[in-house]
Amino acid sequence: MKTVDVVIVGGGMVGATLACALAERHFQVAVVEARPPQPFDPEADWDLRVSAISRASQRIFEHLGLWPAMQAMRVSPYDRMVVWEEGGGEIRFDAAEMAEPDLGHIIENRVIQLAAWQRLERRDGVLRCCPARLETLEIGPEWARVGLDDGEVLQARLVVGADGARSRLRDLAGIGHSEHDYGQKGIVCLVDLERDHQYTAWQRFLPSGPLALLPLSDVRQCSIVWSADRPLADELMALDDAAFSARLQAAFGDRLGRLQVRGRRAAFPLAGRQAAHYARPRLALVGDAAHTIHPLAGQGVNLGLLDAAGLVGRLQPGRDPGAWPALRAYERARRSEDVLMMRAMEGFRYLFGNDLTPLRLLRGAGLALADRLPALKQAFMRQALGLRRDLPELARVQCR
Ligand SMILES: Cc1cc2nc3c(=O)[nH]c(=O)nc-3n(C[C@H](O)[C@H](O)[C@H](O)COP(=O)(O)OP(=O)(O)OC[C@H]3O[C@@H](n4cnc5c(N)ncnc54)[C@H](O)[C@@H]3O)c2cc1C
Repeated sequence: MKTVDVVIVGGGMVGATLACALAERHFQVAVVEARPPQPFDPEADWDLRVSAISRASQRIFEHLGLWPAMQAMRVSPYDRMVVWEEGGGEIRFDAAEMAEPDLGHIIENRVIQLAAWQRLERRDGVLRCCPARLETLEIGPEWARVGLDDGEVLQARLVVGADGARSRLRDLAGIGHSEHDYGQKGIVCLVDLERDHQYTAWQRFLPSGPLALLPLSDVRQCSIVWSADRPLADELMALDDAAFSARLQAAFGDRLGRLQVRGRRAAFPLAGRQAAHYARPRLALVGDAAHTIHPLAGQGVNLGLLDAAGLVGRLQPGRDPGAWPALRAYERARRSEDVLMMRAMEGFRYLFGNDLTPLRLLRGAGLALADRLPALKQAFMRQALGLRRDLPELARVQCR
């Protein structure tokens, strides 16, 4: 049996970043990950799984020394955002209005994970168990023990579940969760454009769900997230490339000229989930293991990274990391923030997914009006950038 301070189950974007943050603070850490991170090939196309990364998340990466590695692989900044509804209003956001260099970056999920894993390889005091799966959990008053499918047993003061939406750790701990099926799937793929994307994130609200085109490092390429009601999503997935491209064109319009799908497509069922508890004595949940949210505002992993930063900020080097007061403080702070974000997303989805005439008029007028109110736009942009005053220390500018 191996003994460490903290075992993290799941070394995806959130778990691997948390491991880096704990190692920085001189905790002995073990990371259990089922699938080894895929190597990066700069010649290959962008991966299908990308995330819009906020300024707050970027700062976390900078403080942990991960940002240069991500930049050296591949990141794509965007400095404008256009949100509209056909026949309705439109709102434009520009980084220049905030005196910011950009509004965020599009990054492949595998690049984020890989940068963190490369960092962990170079750190002392980090045990990487990969490939290995969590099989058993035992929680006692002083220690938590996890058993892996390769027969290894790890003992730690704190065990953290970063093992995604279907968290096995959460289930083994007997922590329930609420689940709201959105009845939609998110279709993702790459698209070649006839015109430059202008470093702009484009989002069009359709009655069946939002369609986003996210700008990549090649100015004639975007990654799409098309959230559509399930029957429509299944129908779209069954089309050949030419027919899918035509439907995409009809849905998006001609702002970027002709759109042509590139490579394969994938579809992910969309559901909002929230764990009943984010912490127990000797146990904490972070990232998708604690909550999932609709991708319409690109907040999922950004919230997960704030969980990681919030948890680390409450653990004192040299003190027991599994002690309840710190974990309880973590749970209180993060859970209430996630609830607010989830409710806001539900409101947006309801407002924009509804074809009732009064609502259509209201949002059309609302977008047009909001576009002319600088203070409101700034508030939106600060939210999108993840710039709030009460951020965890790791996500702030002045951080030692
Ligand atoms: C279509 C779509 C678009 C999205 N776009 C955005 C966006 O633009 N911005 C944004 O912020 N978020 C976005 N999200 C959400 C984002 O992808 C998730 O929030 C993020 O992947 C969660 O990261 P995580 O590390 O918590 O979990 P995961 O990425 O699910 O990682 C969990 C890890 O745990 C491992 N694991 C699982 N079970 C075990 C086990 N038993 N033992 C060992 N290891 C295990 C897995 O192999 C995996 O590596 C999007 C989601 C979707 C579906």
